[in-house]
Amino acid sequence: MKDDGQLTIDSGQLTVSREPERMCVACRGRGGKETFVRLVCGKCGTVRLDLAGKLPGRGAYIHREASCLKAAIKKNSLTRALRCAVPPEIYDLLESEIKNNDKQRS
Ligand SMILES: [Zn+2]
Repeated sequence: MKDDGQLTIDSGQLTVSREPERMCVACRGRGGKETFVRLVCGKCGTVRLDLAGKLPGRGAYIHREASCLKAAIKKNSLTRALRCAVPPEIYDLLESEIKNNDKQRS
């Protein structure tokens, strides 16, 4: 009998359905869902803010922090993460979203 030490994994069902981990594209930090803004790049290459977290497409997360937004703009992190161009108005939207959030907190 030939035994080459090959392992037969007989599970057949690897569960990969765990929640995708959120990581800020700017600082690589983690956190709860509510600390992030999600952006998605849709099929036709349009970038949108996904405040409900339900839009389909490639997503990227950024903290609701002005410093993270600044860093992301500087390093072009969002463009790289989404693999599509992020128009300036998206940054504007993000900025106002972050500001709104600050107001709610204080
Ligand atoms: Zn961050």
